[in-house]
Amino acid sequence: MSRAPQRVGGEAFDRRAVDVLRTGLRGRVVLPDDSDYHRVRQVWNAMVDRRPALIVRCAGTSDVIRGVALARDHGALVSVRGGGHNVAGNAVCDGGVMIDLSPMNAVHVNPAGRTALAQGGCTWLDLDTEAQAFGLATTGGVVSSTGIGGLTLGGGIGYLMRKHGLTCDNLLSVEMVTADGSLVRASATENTELFWGVRGGGGNFGIVTNFEYRLHPLDAVYAGNLIYPASKTRRAMQVYRDFLPDAPEELTCGLVIFRNTGKRAEARIIVCYLGPEDEGRKAIEPLRALGPDVLDDVMMSSYSRLQTMLDDPPETRRGHYHKSNFVREMTDSAIDSLLARMADPEATAPVISIEHLGGAVARAGEDETAFPHRKAIMNFSTESSWEGSRRSDADIAWVRGTWQAMQPYLSDGVYANYMTEDGDEGQQRVKAAYGPKYDRLAALKTRYDPANFFRLNQNIKPLG
Ligand code: FAD
Repeated sequence: MSRAPQRVGGEAFDRRAVDVLRTGLRGRVVLPDDSDYHRVRQVWNAMVDRRPALIVRCAGTSDVIRGVALARDHGALVSVRGGGHNVAGNAVCDGGVMIDLSPMNAVHVNPAGRTALAQGGCTWLDLDTEAQAFGLATTGGVVSSTGIGGLTLGGGIGYLMRKHGLTCDNLLSVEMVTADGSLVRASATENTELFWGVRGGGGNFGIVTNFEYRLHPLDAVYAGNLIYPASKTRRAMQVYRDFLPDAPEELTCGLVIFRNTGKRAEARIIVCYLGPEDEGRKAIEPLRALGPDVLDDVMMSSYSRLQTMLDDPPETRRGHYHKSNFVREMTDSAIDSLLARMADPEATAPVISIEHLGGAVARAGEDETAFPHRKAIMNFSTESSWEGSRRSDADIAWVRGTWQAMQPYLSDGVYANYMTEDGDEGQQRVKAAYGPKYDRLAALKTRYDPANFFRLNQNIKPLG
């Protein structure tokens, strides 16, 4: 008498297939009844609460290939987790296979050749720490727990970008597991179209197991915060805007408007100058002249200090909601709209950020990479966050309202890595994220992933 095959992972998988996977794996399979399941499925945005049927904690490329094969053979939805920072929570899926790369965090630096080979699950802390041991760095995210994976594949905005380009501009090669389980390499000389596509096209084409980066000599930076009293917020926003076009490429700044303890909007300008102190002082003179009376801690410091300065306090779990677009023009009326929104008490912890691009980001050739927003000078983001994992409709409404109020001043372009995609960011927004590169990316998607196996991302639909 034959018995029905046992199922595991909420009935999604044949137990024998999972046992076979487990036997060959260097890492681990985590199922819903395992004690660490709830910890492993967590991502940065506490509002995201999805339950994969099975998690493959990968120790190396062979585990990634096996995880992909299991998902493919069962027709299961697949999600890929790097650092888990995607705000929409694309790293985790309901009912499918989560390929967790976070145990794959080895970095090998070649100091003489100024390159680094980093596994697909590294965070910026992993890469920066290894590279800084040799006085080297590449453009990376400004929070150390962000994954190199998602950030690099979407473009990569960071303090070094105006001098050294986006993170993807410093990518030399990738090794990638594709939907059919093959391992392909892409670089300036191998699979060149794929290499073009992974520099801005996101996680659409496969799972990158190794990223190779160009590094630059970097020791200390002249960096820190300038925080202005609430009475100067409007003026600080104007000075920041007017000062940007003539700023040297060695200087990258970010403006953050937040609510102080007295519930008034304050401006914080984060600065990073790549050079000696006297030059740095000169470069930020217009920002200092305005009088950052609340805080001025700009000084020569290690790059590692700067790269951890904005880290979340440990053990905090907060829900987050963001919306973003590149800026067309930041007029005085745009500034007034933003200040009016900040005065609205609806949001728990409202924040507005205006990042400063240009320099080497704009100099890269328009067709060199799939990243389409080279000429943007500023990026606007609005966000709010709240304690715990519940959904906060008031905060979400505030973010949407602020984004709506800014529409007259924003371009259509949106940075793929800052998209929320929780129902309100449809295919039109995805097209805006890839801009004029969309059709070429769709052709590439059709070649490498015709069945759209990798679809939990800012998804490019295969043709046909
Ligand atoms: P995950 O959530 O793990 O992955 C997101 C998606 O990326 C996955 O769904 C998958 O499609 C893809 N992916 C990840 N790894 C791989 C891989 N190895 N192979 C194939 N696909 C992969 N962006 C900036 O440009 N600059 C910043 O300074 C910056 N700071 C941030 C700070 C915070 C606190 C947060 C939350 C986000 C920040 N971002 C920044 C946005 C960030 O680039 C995106 O959230 C990005 O998706 C994070 O990558 P991750 O690997 O951590 O994400």
